[in-house]
Amino acid sequence: MTYQLPQCQPADAHHLAVGNVVITTLFDTTMQATLDLVTQIGPDEAAELHRLSRRASPPCITVNAYLVQTPDSRILIDAGLGANADANNGRARRALEQIGLSPSDIDLVLLTHLHPDHFGGLLDGDGQPVFPNAPHRIPGGEINHWQAGPPADADETAQRHFAGAQTFLEACHNQIERLDGHDAASGITRVELPGHTPDHSGYRIESAGETLLIWGDIVHLPQIQFPQPKACVAFDTDPYQAQRTRHAVMAQVAESGEPVAGHHIDFPGIGTVNQDGDGYRFQPHVWSASV
Ligand SMILES: [Zn+2]
Ligand SMILES: [Zn+2]
Repeated sequence: MTYQLPQCQPADAHHLAVGNVVITTLFDTTMQATLDLVTQIGPDEAAELHRLSRRASPPCITVNAYLVQTPDSRILIDAGLGANADANNGRARRALEQIGLSPSDIDLVLLTHLHPDHFGGLLDGDGQPVFPNAPHRIPGGEINHWQAGPPADADETAQRHFAGAQTFLEACHNQIERLDGHDAASGITRVELPGHTPDHSGYRIESAGETLLIWGDIVHLPQIQFPQPKACVAFDTDPYQAQRTRHAVMAQVAESGEPVAGHHIDFPGIGTVNQDGDGYRFQPHVWSASV
């Protein structure tokens, strides 16, 4: 007899209590990348940092979405690639089902920025909105930027990103809300982290004296950008501003000890940051049977 070996993980969700709320990581997919994506540092340094991580080459980028569950609301913070992912992926929606939630159970969507690996899961395969009861709250500067259209020198990827964001904004126009201040929802504060995109934002969750910062796309390749925060990725809108923001927020959480969660930090994408020489070291949250 031949045993069938497992081909995929049994679950794509992970819960962590922060005060009286639960932050659920929803694994969506991994995107195949190459080290050519890395900018602002030399290719040899990028290759060496990647080699030291013992990860597969070429590198993959994890994509997570996050759900904030409070006693009276269920708030999605980004939604993964969704139907844009290849057939094997776009698992965040299935992860919601695994924890017993349907799209109509989501009360609010907060977006960190308008890249397709963040808003993609808000549209189904036919380009229709997935979460009927949820306003989609978006940093105002993101709406302005993507609606303005690409600059004349935009490359093909940038042009595709602009077109995708505009399609999304149009498809969900009845649900779109501008978020210009810092008050994103009860117990959730928007934190401006510009550079990756013009109004790229994180969300700080606070409950019963505990906090966690969901920082969006501060890193895409954690094995490179924690030890070397100067490293950027090719689709950063303003790499110099992205560097300054990454340095500042890493220094801040290394000093305070506040846990962070990242959409491209490997599942479950939560941990703390320590200063390590001129760079930083990420300490992943340790799996625990209790939430
Ligand atoms: Zn992004
Ligand atoms: Zn992203």
